[in-house]
Amino acid sequence: MARLGIMGGTFDPIHLGHLATAESVRESMNLEKIIFIPAANPPHKTEKKIASSNHRLKMVEFAIQSNPFFEVSTMEIDRQGLSYSLLTVEELHEKFERAELFFITGADAVNDLASWYHAFELLEKCHFIAATRGGSMLDWRSLEKFFGSLAREKIHEVQTPALEISSTDIRNRIANGRSIKYLVPDEVEKYIAREELC
Ligand code: ATP
Ligand code: MG
Repeated sequence: MARLGIMGGTFDPIHLGHLATAESVRESMNLEKIIFIPAANPPHKTEKKIASSNHRLKMVEFAIQSNPFFEVSTMEIDRQGLSYSLLTVEELHEKFERAELFFITGADAVNDLASWYHAFELLEKCHFIAATRGGSMLDWRSLEKFFGSLAREKIHEVQTPALEISSTDIRNRIANGRSIKYLVPDEVEKYIAREELC
């Protein structure tokens, strides 16, 4: 059965933290490929300036170009509206009928999993990879309380190299005219300069 990784996010912009994590999880979990899925612009978040989905998509395309195991999907952008992971996972199951899906995210997000849209159903339909560094960062007690035995079956911790990079910090650097070199791929840095994104 094909093992596919899913890397969802706003990617505003995509950075080396996302890429290093995806590559490290791909290798340690033996995944066939990783599909990057940029979220649609949230309809309610108009006050928080987010780069258009077209720009975010272009930056992901540039960033993954050199990795034959990485792909990008526009399914959430095309679907519009809120980017519920459950809908994305269901759509991927339809597309890749015999695939096992591994949703990659930071450990902090996995600790919040119970609050996600139809969380139990979601965990029934895919695995979650919590990227951690050092020891365990997962709150197994709460996870098991909510998800029961499904927690240990479907949630996996994977040690990844820790890169203290966030899109928020990159946007702040750009806004303040500071360098983002070595935080994002060169092509992404060039694209941001060319399109005057901030
Ligand atoms: P923002 O600062 O705008 O929240 P972000 O850097 O957290 O952006 P997102 O697009 O929100 O990026 O994150 C997409 C996914 O990548 C999430 O699952 C998040 O946990 C993970 N992620 C973000 N930054 C890192 C990093 N430095 N290392 C590993 N994973 C990361
Ligand atoms: Mg984030």
